[in-house]
This record gives sequence, structure tokens and C-alpha cells, in this order.
Amino acid sequence: MQLVIENLSKTYANGTHALRDVSLTIPQGMFGLLGPNGAGKSTLMRTLATLQEPDSGRATLGDIDVLRDKDALRRTLGYLPQEFGLYPKVPAVELLDHFATLKGVTHKKQRWEVVSSLLQQTNLWAARNKNLGGFSGGMRQRFGIAVALIGNPRLIIVDEPTAGLDPAERVRFLNLLSEIGENAVVILSTHIVEDVSELCSRMAIIDQGEILQEAEPLAAIRAMQGRVWMRGAERDELPAIDAQHALISTRMMSGRTVVHVVADEHPGGGFEPVAPSLEDVYFAAMRARRGADAAAAA
Ligand code: ADP
Repeated sequence: MQLVIENLSKTYANGTHALRDVSLTIPQGMFGLLGPNGAGKSTLMRTLATLQEPDSGRATLGDIDVLRDKDALRRTLGYLPQEFGLYPKVPAVELLDHFATLKGVTHKKQRWEVVSSLLQQTNLWAARNKNLGGFSGGMRQRFGIAVALIGNPRLIIVDEPTAGLDPAERVRFLNLLSEIGENAVVILSTHIVEDVSELCSRMAIIDQGEILQEAEPLAAIRAMQGRVWMRGAERDELPAIDAQHALISTRMMSGRTVVHVVADEHPGGGFEPVAPSLEDVYFAAMRARRGADAAAAA
């Protein structure tokens, strides 16, 4: 079973082109949708979760027509939105039980089996009688995953789940996601490159509503081998470096500015070769897109 997205487009009433002809084929397992804020990730996630309509295009999950047969899709969907409210004064176990009832697990004994096993799976068993208002950010996100997993969904969508988590919570949350990823199509939308590099066997990069690249992270990194170069730089050198080279990133490292450029040959000027990372793949795709935009505008 796979999710096939064909030519989805969406323009909001204010004229923002949030999705431009988006096509993706997403197999079972963890798929990373990587892009900066405003790229269109949430628009795509909400469309696939049947919460909003595209202007055109189609999507199918196995034999379910996502946009036409919304009820069938919803029965097999687990969706963790970017923001969700919880009832602060309700114990976790009670709210999960309530959601399980809403999702159609009406038999009491069976519901208890579902609820208790999800609390264990998400490592919330010990906190099950705590009110949700007392949960940390990481516990809230794990609770959100427990809700999303009720009913063994075949499509699981998690929208920017690690934003705001501290490093230890983030690692624990990503480990949890990797465990559930095997028997479903799991889409992880994120602006954090490490989320994808640590977890996803396939990915797409999205910017300004357009898919820039669809790839296996390891293969995409391999394809940049020997083409990424780095050197330390002073801040006031940056405009000249940007003018002369294909500058893909500028970052601080131990108090120094370090730049990465892409070039097929040694670019001279004090650059050294560096092993490429997924961040280089990501920034190179974004730069290529901006270059194409600038060429089109000229
Ligand atoms: P992301 O999730 O990647 O941050 P979004 O899908 O939220 O991106 O947004 C894509 C673009 O669409 C942005 O420019 C955003 O401002 C715009 N946008 C999102 N929702 C709406 C809306 N309801 N009305 C108008 N513009 C919107």
C-alpha cells in the first residue's frame, strides 16, 4: 500500500500559492517532508487529513480516494496536528479512553486493552493518572501520538512534532515514531533537517509550495560527495563569497563563521573539501530554486 499524490494545487483567497502541482509517491515507512516555515507543509498535511480542499489534483491511499471518500480515509488516519488543545484537568487515561470511544472502540474490555497498550507504548503508563495540564511538552506530543494511533491507522501524519521539545524529549519522541513506522505510511513534516536524517528512509524537500527534490536521504548525500567545500570567513567577506561561489550555508561553529559552497571542482580561495550532510542537500536544493527564480526574473 502506498500514498500517491498527483498534481495537488492550492491558492488561498489572499492569493498565496501554498501548493503548486505537488506530486509524490509515498511508500510504507517513515517519509520526511522537509521545508522552511511557510513552505506549504501544513497545507499539504491538512489536505491529506481531509480537513481542507485543494483547488485541483488527487490523492489515493491504496484503493481509497482520499479527497472523495473522506470517511474511509478518516477511519484509517492518525493525525497529530501542529497545535492541539487538551483538557488540562482530565487525567491522560480518561481522555485517551474518551478518544478511543469516539474512534469507535465501543467494547469496554477491548477499549481498555487499546488504551493501556498505547499508554505503555508511548511511555506514559506511569503518568496515566496525571492531569494533562501537568504534562511536559514531550509528554503532550507522546500523548498526541497515542491518540493518533488508536485503531491502527494505515496513514499517520505528524506535523512539526519536535518543534519546542528539548533534546532529550526530541530523541525519545523520534524513537517512538521510528517504532510505529513499519506497517503504515508515516509522514513527518518538519523544518528540522536532523529529524529527517535520523529517521526517514525517504524524503521530499518543499519550498514555496513546490517539491524541489524527492529522494532517499543517504543517496542524496552520496550524490553530493566531493562537491561541498568549506572555510572559515569573516562576516564582511560573505557578500563577496556569495557573489563568487554557490554559497549554500553560513553558520556559527565554536564562535566562528563557517561557510559551505557547492562546486564540481575545487573552488580555490582557501576552501577545503567537507563530507556532505543532509543539511547541505537541503540548502543546495533551496539555493538552486532561488537561482532559477532569479534567472526567470532577469
Ligand atoms: P508550513 O506548514 O510549511 O509552514 P503552511 O502550509 O502553513 O506552511 O503555509 C503555506 C503558505 O500559505 C504560507 O505563505 C502561509 O502564510 C499561507 N497560508 C496558510 N494558511 C493560510 C490561510 N488559511 N489563508 C491564507 N494563507 C494561508
